[in-house]
Amino acid sequence: MDTVTSCITHARRVVIKIGSSLLVDASIGQLRHQWLQALIDDVAWLKSRGTTPLIVSSGSIALGRKMLGLGIGNLPLEQIQAAAAVGQIRLAYHYEEALQRHNLWAAQILLTLDVSRHRRRYLNSRATFESLLDQGVVPVVNENDSVATDEIRFGDNDRLAAQVAVMTNADCMILLSDVNGFYDLDPRVHPESAQLIDRVPTITAKIEAMASASVSDMSKGGMVTKIQAAKTASSAGCATIIANGTRRSPLRALWQGGKGTLFLPQGDPQSARKQWIAAMKPRGRLIVDQGALRALHHGNSLLPAGVVGVDGEFDRGDSVGVGGPDTSMVYIGLSRYTSGETQRIMGKKSDDIPAILGYPARAALIHRDDMTPLIDATETSKRDGGH
Ligand code: GLU
Repeated sequence: MDTVTSCITHARRVVIKIGSSLLVDASIGQLRHQWLQALIDDVAWLKSRGTTPLIVSSGSIALGRKMLGLGIGNLPLEQIQAAAAVGQIRLAYHYEEALQRHNLWAAQILLTLDVSRHRRRYLNSRATFESLLDQGVVPVVNENDSVATDEIRFGDNDRLAAQVAVMTNADCMILLSDVNGFYDLDPRVHPESAQLIDRVPTITAKIEAMASASVSDMSKGGMVTKIQAAKTASSAGCATIIANGTRRSPLRALWQGGKGTLFLPQGDPQSARKQWIAAMKPRGRLIVDQGALRALHHGNSLLPAGVVGVDGEFDRGDSVGVGGPDTSMVYIGLSRYTSGETQRIMGKKSDDIPAILGYPARAALIHRDDMTPLIDATETSKRDGGH
């Protein structure tokens, strides 16, 4: 995956971020129907080739301003938030309509930028994404602008797209906007000499300085947040493409050898996530029986039935250590239940849990994607006859 084309061709899961300037003709505040339909044709086409698409789309504020007759000048925050509330419904409607032409369902997800700081909210959003993707639905994500507490800034959706990419273990993120990619010099200031950089292996301090050296306010905000987003995605094992989306069918153009800048990922999404989990400080401990330990060594999830003891107090989404009665902690993972709930369901069959807790529940206590061995797990595994 070392060119823009091979990245999009081989992507397993791709997050496509669409900027307002592509989707909405600001002079008349109208959505560009034909452009959107062509883009969704490409999304459907990618999907039919086995790539799972997710969309992060801006445009609610631009549409809502026009609908409310608010003009194009500066507005107080509450009016922007009101415009977003009105525009978002229209935006979702257009996505639903465009996807339905391909018999695909759209799902609207509105997130706040701090979603990853609240682990429980993060895990729930992640599970919702997985469930939608399992069912072949195309998520269309935007920032929940009407409830956002900070100022809404140009470029927020670049960062949001990176968070969605991390949350869903995507391996490719495409930031479509009105710039061709990342240049060594600002192309608006140095149109003759500025060169498009095809590939950035690592986002170094020099690359970041080049992004913030852009002179125009718009491109400065635009490029700085794009580089930040690429950095977040890259450290989670996801490649980033910055490309121009103004032409008709920009995704197909990239597939067919079109230009843009590719930021290479560091590692792959799954191992990056596991490294992140391994670095956490456990809030509690689960003691499990030999059968459960063997199941973990075989890469399975931890079920409540195998748990024989709980130590410490933890919330859903907190990290906990896992070990046998006579071993040290050999795994670390994110618990899907609180310590109180775990006390009640330990030793019980997964089918009985909803009745014990009184609400629909998840089968696994720690899902295998949320768990990683600590260093001595392989040794323990050998002793236990696992592999
Ligand atoms: N969430 C905003 C909107 O939909 C856009 C923010 C951005 O473009 O970064 O209008």
